[in-house]
Amino acid sequence: MVNARGVARLRAGHVWVYRSDLVSADGIAPGAMVRVVDERGRAQGTALYSSASQIAIRMIAPGAVADFPALIRERLLAAIGYRKQVVSETDVCRLVFSEADFLPGLIIDRYNDVLTIQALTQAMDSEGARQTIVSTLAEQLSPAGIVERVEARVRELEQLPARDNALLAGEKTDTIFTMNGVRFHYRGLKGQKTGAFLDQRENYAAAAGYAHGKALDVFCYQGGFALHLAGACSQVTGVDSSRPALEMAEQNAALNSREIEWIEGNAFDLLKDYSEAGRQYDTIVLDPPAFARSRKTLETALRGYKELNLRALKMLRSGGVLVTCSCSYHVGEADFLQTVAAAALDARRTLRLIEKRGQARDHPVLVGVPETAYLKCMIFQVAG
Ligand code: SAH
Repeated sequence: MVNARGVARLRAGHVWVYRSDLVSADGIAPGAMVRVVDERGRAQGTALYSSASQIAIRMIAPGAVADFPALIRERLLAAIGYRKQVVSETDVCRLVFSEADFLPGLIIDRYNDVLTIQALTQAMDSEGARQTIVSTLAEQLSPAGIVERVEARVRELEQLPARDNALLAGEKTDTIFTMNGVRFHYRGLKGQKTGAFLDQRENYAAAAGYAHGKALDVFCYQGGFALHLAGACSQVTGVDSSRPALEMAEQNAALNSREIEWIEGNAFDLLKDYSEAGRQYDTIVLDPPAFARSRKTLETALRGYKELNLRALKMLRSGGVLVTCSCSYHVGEADFLQTVAAAALDARRTLRLIEKRGQARDHPVLVGVPETAYLKCMIFQVAG
């Protein structure tokens, strides 16, 4: 049973109800499918329940649902169908983006012939859900391997038993995938998140369209931007603090016959040193990890973004390109633009916004659920 505030949230198009807005949830098993009612007993739809998360319920249907596995199957087919419309000329994409594909708590990615599954809630981690997901994917896409990717922190929050990344079906965990004509190694059991940052796929191509001269890719991970820039730039340097990420980046460069300089280090220190030393670039990409994990850390996060952008702007030549990203949901587009504008004022640079971009179309944004829109990627030209 949900209180008036919870009902209002659902009426506004959201699909979550927080634990503080539950009136009662007595005797409901972890991960159960539940019928949601308001305080007068009126039906509000069907949801998945979590006994541990602050997000106590996630709606899955406005009416009754007879068979949860059948619903999962139907929605998987729809999600695969949607990708056929919006994803082309690549063998890699996000197949299921949780709430935005009406499968809250489930992420599925395709890396060529390897699929990865990540269950983020008790309901999606249940045996019934997992079996349906694996069998539907196998039947629809005939992958050479299906791998489970584990986000340890989320499993802990959901009070799910700890697990390692593992092969669930087939025999292949490693492969090579291609996006925008650039090839990448994929290691299903290693790496951060689900293995690659697929939300940037369309932004890589956009950035490459403006990139020129000497380029710096800051927070490069396995070289997503750097490898795309290499086709358009005379010289590319990638910076990251993770050695394993840079080792993969180097293998990716070799796979594409590119020469890229990889530097292991703290991006803040390196940008400070390079800008003080008067280094100059024509293209700089900034793609840091999420600085604001909650609203409380917003101010610190904005200071971090400002510092990075300020240093980068000081190093860009006139006519240069700044590709600057934020994947913090709590940092809104307006906040982010304002922060870059403040950095430009301090750096005494005039900027023109060429493109205001977000996540790739295989990460759709569900209207009414603002949390599904998180990535900002702004491309600026330094006009003076
Ligand atoms: N641009 C990448 C994704 C970046 S994810 C792509 O398109 O694939 C953020 C990256 O920042 C991670 O690889 C992480 O290792 C790195 N990182 C985190 N803190 C850092 C720091 N202080 N200095 C340098 N790199 C850092």
